Amino acid sequence: MRIIIFGPPGSGKGTQAKKISRHFGIKHLSTGDMLRKAIDEKSELGIIVSSILDAGQLVPDQTVVDLVEETIQYEEFNNGYVLDGFPRTVEQAVAFDDLLERRKESVDAFLSLRVPDQELIDRIISRGEGRSDDTEDKIKVRLKVYKKETAPVMDYYMTAGMFRSIDGTGSIDDIFDRILSALPKK
Ligand code: ADP
Repeated sequence: MRIIIFGPPGSGKGTQAKKISRHFGIKHLSTGDMLRKAIDEKSELGIIVSSILDAGQLVPDQTVVDLVEETIQYEEFNNGYVLDGFPRTVEQAVAFDDLLERRKESVDAFLSLRVPDQELIDRIISRGEGRSDDTEDKIKVRLKVYKKETAPVMDYYMTAGMFRSIDGTGSIDDIFDRILSALPKK
């Protein structure tokens, strides 16, 4: 099973992706987590992207596309995966389609989490992860970038039949139940 979990910053993508990963025994691939790990490790990639993440802007498309392509080649991804934070632009979605086509694979579900704007800001501030991009002004930048660059990805998948809009409010378990009922049965 290959799943994309999609939504604005603070919508709970990471939390739900972890639950999906555990439930189905598939890998969780979070581009944000991978980039933050690269920054912590001060790798070449980390050094390049550090100031971009800090500013709440997007890393160049090719950089994340390469990262995802390299990662899903590992055998542990053969069983499926849940993508969290990718694709984040229409260009990334197009490049990912091309990658899947080459691998003769397809996505089973695109899950879009709906959460009102003010709740997003409140959630990020109260989760207190201490991320350098979690201050109120940076969150506002990230929401703006989301609306301009990332929201159009929804239209891209909307026509493809695997699009599912999920109410992202309420308890973590309630949201997860909605996700399970929205997934194709197989
Ligand atoms: P959030 O959804 O809360 O913004 P993420 O962990 O998904 O958190 O992303 C954090 C940051 O990592 C983004 O603001 C961006 O700088 C970078 N990033 C993550 N995924 C991508 C991507 N697919 N394309 C470009 N930048 C990305």
